[in-house]
Amino acid sequence: MTDGKQVRNSAYKHLVLIIVGTLLWWADGLAQAQHNFPGLVDAHIHYSHDAWERTPPQKAISLLRKAGLRKAFVSSSSDQGTQKLYALDPALIVPVLRPYRKRGELGSWMYDETVPGMLKSLLASNYYAGIGEFHAFGDDIDLPVLRAVIDLALEYRIFLHAHSDSDAVENIFSYNPKAVVLWAHSGFENSSEVDRMLSLYPNLWADLAFRFEHERDGRVTSEWRRLFVKYPDRFLLGTDTYTPERWYYVIENADSARVWLQDLPSEVAHNIAWKNAERLMESLGK
Ligand SMILES: [Zn+2]
Repeated sequence: MTDGKQVRNSAYKHLVLIIVGTLLWWADGLAQAQHNFPGLVDAHIHYSHDAWERTPPQKAISLLRKAGLRKAFVSSSSDQGTQKLYALDPALIVPVLRPYRKRGELGSWMYDETVPGMLKSLLASNYYAGIGEFHAFGDDIDLPVLRAVIDLALEYRIFLHAHSDSDAVENIFSYNPKAVVLWAHSGFENSSEVDRMLSLYPNLWADLAFRFEHERDGRVTSEWRRLFVKYPDRFLLGTDTYTPERWYYVIENADSARVWLQDLPSEVAHNIAWKNAERLMESLGK
């Protein structure tokens, strides 16, 4: 063997060792993270009509189980998707009632006066922990359909899973301060606005679905760390399977959450991982 070949061979071996070492370190980190956070709650899952064929109910349940979830808050357009999953695994699925019959109603549902009647009959016959996720912004909350939805949530002691801006959330609480709101995506508001809202409204909880700025490379950013520590009992995890293909991110999202959660004080991390979701349910007697 020539010297040149020897050098190349040894450089190649060195590179292989580095790659294997990195993979082992990463796998070890993930195993540790899984050990630390064995059962998460994902508070933002949808199983709408176009997901059923691609991911049949049994497969959907096995994906949620593989992600290591102890509970999944599920809503769907129509509600049949939620009922399919709940029938298969009632210990895992927490049904949430979506006011949409099919995809594409998120901008029009609030003008459809048949919605409260549909919700009433489903609430009378099935178990739900919340109504949502629904989309409503600003003054939408003054519309009769929204008022009826808030009234129903209070009547049944269930939360509102609201994809809303701050104005809409404020309007919900000014209509009825006893409402309990799970703020989808933390309103896509920045950390100081989320801070302001959480300080004003004790019945406001916030999910982290489709938010990315709270962590970078597995480390929690400083402004969100302040927020998580200041409000240790108000944040929940979520994936948001708003399209059928998003179902394949549920496992990835859980794995990534387990990594960044390790960067928080243990008690805060376990609260966000699952305890806050359980507390939200308990606060409503669920
Ligand atoms: Zn959603």
